[in-house]
Amino acid sequence: MAAYDYDLFVIGGGSGGVRAARVAASLGKRVAIAEEYRYGGTCVIRGCVPKKLFVYASQFSEAFEDAEGYGWSVGETRFDWSKLMAAKDKEIERLEGIYQTNALKAGAEVITDRAVLEGPHAVRLIGADRHVTAETILIATGGRPNRHPAMPGAEHCITSEEAFHLKELPKRIAVLGGGYIAVEFANIFHGLGVDTTLVYRGKEILQGFDDDLRHELHEAMDRKGLQVHCCDTFERVDMRGDGTLAATMKSGEVLIVDQVMLAIGRNANTENLGCETAGVELDERGAVKVDEYSRTSAENIYAIGDVTHRVQLTPVAIHEAMCLIDTLYRGKPTSPDYDSIATAVFSQPELGVVGLTEQEACRRFAEIEIFKATFRPMKNTLTGREGRMIMKLVVDAATRRVLGAHVLGHDAGELAQILAIAVKAGLTKDQFDATMAVHPTAAEELVTMYQPSYRVKNGERV
Ligand code: NDP
Repeated sequence: MAAYDYDLFVIGGGSGGVRAARVAASLGKRVAIAEEYRYGGTCVIRGCVPKKLFVYASQFSEAFEDAEGYGWSVGETRFDWSKLMAAKDKEIERLEGIYQTNALKAGAEVITDRAVLEGPHAVRLIGADRHVTAETILIATGGRPNRHPAMPGAEHCITSEEAFHLKELPKRIAVLGGGYIAVEFANIFHGLGVDTTLVYRGKEILQGFDDDLRHELHEAMDRKGLQVHCCDTFERVDMRGDGTLAATMKSGEVLIVDQVMLAIGRNANTENLGCETAGVELDERGAVKVDEYSRTSAENIYAIGDVTHRVQLTPVAIHEAMCLIDTLYRGKPTSPDYDSIATAVFSQPELGVVGLTEQEACRRFAEIEIFKATFRPMKNTLTGREGRMIMKLVVDAATRRVLGAHVLGHDAGELAQILAIAVKAGLTKDQFDATMAVHPTAAEELVTMYQPSYRVKNGERV
């Protein structure tokens, strides 16, 4: 008789957890997975997927305006928030079903219940009050928005989680934060016709991205009337008699809005998970500490995805799951590869990037070459829209290797995926130059920037 009920018990039915459960089960392991809310996790249920659907919805306002330049008369348009919500909910339900079915089809036991650790090999299913054991346990419980409890009036604010379920589209919204979620949602709300203000404590939005792209995106947001306040934050949020909110900024300015959305980072879902009981150590921010093979301080307990605070991206969680399967069940210890992770911010215009920024490359390489094209994309010529597109390559002068590629503009996310193959493969600028352009496209700039725009030697622009 087997010593444990399962070979693998996965806590959390998001992208990472489901992938690990599904593949382990398909390898013949006895697997169970427990999810307390809805299968699909943050990405599918209240993150990437519904967000992208909202992005598409919000792009129509500009598309209607642009249509005129191409001879179309669009006439009066009207947006129905509840119709979008219903369509989005239906699609999310469909995807949720697929996630469950795939795990089931692979042979995993799929449980909807809260699971907590009761020991290194033991888990309690809270709803069913059932105790189970497993040889290996995987924590894949993800994260949740930081609700900023230290700020007076935080209870009046929403986060991305509530934004996906708002009964009504607000007329005015203030968004706090300058990262992915704040920037994406500010653009979504603006595109849907909401009077939107973004408040960010730093000097420029999207810290960590290339400075040229950050500035250009900020300018584009200013141009379209999305108000961005940098070097400021909210000190308090008060509910007014008429149900509107007064958000008082550090600068003293008070914004009167219908909703305040907080997008100030996410915390690991480790609260009351029993980590201490099972000997799983957490870091100072409550994330599960892991080694290079995703192993926690408890020998047979592993953790992947957002709960570990490594890189909070869906494809990274999935990659970590696949590495773990290799390590545990294919006799091939594999640590996740975090080098050259492409990423996109679905702002409008969009950002798509891979590899080092100019600023990072300067610190790591003696001499770099920057190839940059800033131009008005052809699509904007007949519409009169001012937006500029940026394509930027960061190249190591010594080896000619392309260290980073950065795009701002239409379909930048799609371009980043393709560029990631070249950057990951370590291709040189000469190989980019030897590649025939696809004409007429915006992307052809990436293979036709023959002369460097400038060089940076020992941190100095020359
Ligand atoms: P981010 O870490 O991207 O941004 C958090 C923002 O909040 C930063 O601008 C930060 O400022 C600011 N901030 C943090 N604490 C405070 C505070 N106490 N008061 C005021 N501002 C504060 O987190 P997000 O919440 O936007 O997103 C979470 C993660 O989800 C991202 O890191 C990303 O990995 C993932 N994600 C990915 C998406 C994609 O791939 N397109 C989309 C959405 C999310 P500062 O810069 O000064 O630290």
